[in-house]
Formats: sequence, C-alpha cells, structure tokens
Amino acid sequence: MPSATRLMCQIAATDRTFEREGTHWFGKCLICNGKLSFDARTGYGANIEHILPRTLDGDNALLNLGLTHPGCNAEKGRNWDPKRKRRADPDRYRQLVENLLRKRRDRWREPARECG
Ligand SMILES: [Zn+2]
Repeated sequence: MPSATRLMCQIAATDRTFEREGTHWFGKCLICNGKLSFDARTGYGANIEHILPRTLDGDNALLNLGLTHPGCNAEKGRNWDPKRKRRADPDRYRQLVENLLRKRRDRWREPARECG
C-alpha cells in the first residue's frame, strides 16, 4: 500500500467520524464537517490536511493531520497558510489552526484496526 494511502487509513482509523464500509472510508471533512468518503486502496476522494503546515514546522503526527475534501484543503492552502496571508491576520490564522487542532482531538479514538 502506498505510504500516503496508509497514512490516510491511520488518520481515518483515529477519527471517530470515519467508518470503513467495503472499499471506502466514510466520515466528515475536518474543515467543513461535510460528508467525505475516499477509496481505501487509492486514497482517491480526500486529501491529507496538515493542520499546522509543514512550513510552520507542523509534522506528520496523527494529531496534526486530518482528512478533508480536496477543495477545502486547497482553499486553506491558498487563503490561509501562505506567510503573507497569515501575517495579514495573525489572530484569525492562529484561531483557525487552534480550532482545527481541537476538533481533531475531540474526534480522536484509539484505532480498532491495523492499516496495511
Ligand atoms: Zn470540506
């Protein structure tokens, strides 16, 4: 299994909004809370969101990662994460990151399954 797909499984397995049914995982986007599903074998359908971006030393710890719609991930990457945008409204940016980190913690569960 490609490492990105394995990581997506690990994120879904530790997010209590996600359940595996057949070939897909079904859950909720970390950013917009809308329904989100992706192919468990290819990862197609969802993106990995680095809540604290790698440019700010965010890492691959599972609590810093969420699953999102590709569009939500792109929107945050374009409108919030670039240095120039963060600096324009640092309080709002910090609040956004804190809210997402809190949401990820609130959704946390111990994984019930192994990921390939
Ligand atoms: Zn979304």
